[in-house]
Amino acid sequence: MELATCPACRSALPKKPSKKTKCASCGEFIFVRDGHLMTAKEIEQERIARIRVNDIHYLGFSEEQFRAKEKAITEATGHRPAFVDVIIVLVEERASELLGQEDSTAKFINLRAIYTSASDILKREGRDPRPMKRLGHLYEAKLLRKIGFKRLAFQVPDGSCEQCAALSGKTYSPDEMVSFLESLQGDDPGLCCCYINEANQQ
Ligand SMILES: [Zn+2]
Ligand SMILES: [Zn+2]
Repeated sequence: MELATCPACRSALPKKPSKKTKCASCGEFIFVRDGHLMTAKEIEQERIARIRVNDIHYLGFSEEQFRAKEKAITEATGHRPAFVDVIIVLVEERASELLGQEDSTAKFINLRAIYTSASDILKREGRDPRPMKRLGHLYEAKLLRKIGFKRLAFQVPDGSCEQCAALSGKTYSPDEMVSFLESLQGDDPGLCCCYINEANQQ
């Protein structure tokens, strides 16, 4: 007979459950995943861990790179960093490598991608995504300038925040757009909902 214990309180169970049950000792729900008994908290932790592995790949890093950086930060500071703080360091290092390259469309595409992806992750992790989002926009503008677009505008989807909505309708030369984006900081327009595109020809 297979012995089983409650994953929450460790008390012995009369038999190993095959589906969600409530522990008679502690009253916690016991979930069954691939034959393993888990608490609701463990299920949630596993879900977050899966999302974070996806985030690491989404940014173009490997889990090994993530773990090596996490270890280096832990050794340097004496504390294990939060997931998102490791991500920020990886992104900043990748961005500084890219910034060292000669200007090219590939360089701007890669910078836009890494900053925009990182801002999505920061938002989900409860951090302010705007500084990275703005950098994503900045390299988008530099990319469009390099490609040869003449007039740019913010495209503001329905339901955007007030700050983004206020940017609707204005058009910019690529140089003006780049200067505008470079001038933003702190609580300036978040540019959270909008994206940059070629202005409609009047
Ligand atoms: Zn229990
Ligand atoms: Zn917005």
